[in-house]
Amino acid sequence: MDELVELLKKQQKRFNKKEKDAFIKFLISQLISSGYDYEIIESNFFGTKHVATKSDNNPSVIFLAHYDTATTLPIWVEWLLRVFGHTRNLLTLSSIVLIFHLISLTNNALIINLFYAIAAGSILISMIMIVNKNTMNDNTSGVLVLLLLLNRIAKQEDLKKKVKFVFTDNEEKFLAGSFQLKRKWNQRGFNYGNRIISVDSVGSGDNIIISYNFISKLSNELKTLFSRIGYKVKNINMFFMPFSDAYSFWRTGAVNINMMYQSILPGGYYIKNIHSKRDKVINKENISMLVDALEEYVKTVC
Ligand SMILES: [Zn+2]
Repeated sequence: MDELVELLKKQQKRFNKKEKDAFIKFLISQLISSGYDYEIIESNFFGTKHVATKSDNNPSVIFLAHYDTATTLPIWVEWLLRVFGHTRNLLTLSSIVLIFHLISLTNNALIINLFYAIAAGSILISMIMIVNKNTMNDNTSGVLVLLLLLNRIAKQEDLKKKVKFVFTDNEEKFLAGSFQLKRKWNQRGFNYGNRIISVDSVGSGDNIIISYNFISKLSNELKTLFSRIGYKVKNINMFFMPFSDAYSFWRTGAVNINMMYQSILPGGYYIKNIHSKRDKVINKENISMLVDALEEYVKTVC
């Protein structure tokens, strides 16, 4: 794993076309050296390019990890998320609205304008102008899990075609990439089944969070498996919240696996240093644990 981490560390910024194309080359070389046939699933929409291993037309399990990377968020947004948690985005949003409301009650035009300018300005500057150079957790860690897992499965010929691995693009553009992927697969009559697992931001955190939208069958299966390992595992229904690529396939019961820390207000969970230049940590213990558990899962369902 160490060698792969070092290689990935050198190519953490995958934001523009040139960086993405270079990374696609790297992914393909990894797939070839593990003995896989691959395909690139393209769409004109935002120039999306997904890299996938070739599988049967109805694979038993599909793993997704987005390889594209994002811009940054101002540090105060992260503080709020630390307090409330990513798993309670609605609460975070309402608290922002409440803060804005309280500020407007001061009736002091200078304070109000200054506050709005700093809040809106810092978000705009971070999101539009500051491309994140450090992406070890989001989502180099997910890419690493998939690369290690596919390498293990490559050694088991009977499993190889029953599992599909997809490195997705444009998750950070409001999941546009995976929406397009679903459309392409529908057009082709590809049977993507009901075991789609997206792995996103698993490099730091001591709780395994399995999130889903409304349909909990797969998340329950995985929770049972992970509970045996000794990590804290939590299933969370995100309802209408588009959390990661799994959301594009929510009707199939698709899940997203994250590793998170408990938020300051108990009951929520947050992803540390997400969309920030401090996103430099991959805890190798998390990665090994996930690769072992997911390999076991694949063996039980294939
Ligand atoms: Zn992500």
